[in-house]
Amino acid sequence: MAILVTGGAGYIGSHTTNRLLDQGQKVVVVDNLVTGHRAAIDPRAKFYQGDLRDREFLSQVFEKEEITGVVHFAANSLVGESMEKPLKYFDNNDYGFIVLLETMIAHNVKKIVFSSTAATFGEAKEMPITETTPQVPTNPYGESKLVMEKFAHWADVADGLRWVALRYFNVAGAKADGSIGEDHHPETHLIPIVLQVASGKREKLQIFGGDYPTKDGTNVRDYVHVMDLADAHILALNYLNDGNDSNAFNLGSATGFSNLEIVEAARKVTGAPIPYEIAGRRAGDPSTLIASSQKAREVLHWQPKYDDIEKIIATAWTWTEKHPAGYDDQK
Ligand code: UDP
Repeated sequence: MAILVTGGAGYIGSHTTNRLLDQGQKVVVVDNLVTGHRAAIDPRAKFYQGDLRDREFLSQVFEKEEITGVVHFAANSLVGESMEKPLKYFDNNDYGFIVLLETMIAHNVKKIVFSSTAATFGEAKEMPITETTPQVPTNPYGESKLVMEKFAHWADVADGLRWVALRYFNVAGAKADGSIGEDHHPETHLIPIVLQVASGKREKLQIFGGDYPTKDGTNVRDYVHVMDLADAHILALNYLNDGNDSNAFNLGSATGFSNLEIVEAARKVTGAPIPYEIAGRRAGDPSTLIASSQKAREVLHWQPKYDDIEKIIATAWTWTEKHPAGYDDQK
């Protein structure tokens, strides 16, 4: 009996795989390694390299392995890129999800926890954002994830497929020992870029937009530690195993930090000056995203352990210092 983790070579997928294995679960990882890293996959997991859109490949994995539940991460997740290549997002994220759900149903596997996102809410009219806040995405990435939530809903109605959608706000940090972490090519996320500047790998930071209606004019985001997020997936699996109904949860910390505040916190953690300049806005960016995680705390009993942005950044810094070339140093 095993849990299938799709995207287990990616940032959040590798941390969740590690956590599941630590808890004694058997894990099968499927990843096409387009954005993931071979070295990020926990050696205790069984690995199949392939694409979810490849029906034949995916069916074979379900035939060979005794899969009891799925944790699904494999997707494209960049707001900026999605504005330029929307169809890439609908193909990989939505068509990939259809093939996954159909394959699960065909093999009578009826439990899935999957990644959704704060980007499904767009420019929300209420803060913090709760599960009942209207979902009106402002970019194709958010739209592709909202569509996944809808697909899952109707697959439940028709086939009894039980699902939990976890809507992440901004994920950051790394496993505390720095053995796994965040490594994207190209890197587009704020905290890893800030740390690249701190380590001298990049000359300076560009902050996208200084004229938003926020406390200092820069975007405000809600950061959650990747290991706390990994825990939420395991709690969500337990929730489904206990026979509960399909559900969606927002995962954040209810605290927002502006991009400038992130730079300030990173300066404290690293002791580096971290020069920056204010550049133009990035297309598709909502000005503020802050989550209420009350529902996840009450229903899933989720208790994030990292409640301090400096501690979150410090774990990412440990990873950056130990692996200056990311996973490339492990090839
Ligand atoms: N950001 C920035 N400069 C960068 C990368 C990101 O100013 O080099 C900003 C981005 O515009 C957003 C925030 O940092 O306001 C978080 O962006 P990220 O891509 O990390 O996550 P997202 O909020 O898009 O999921």
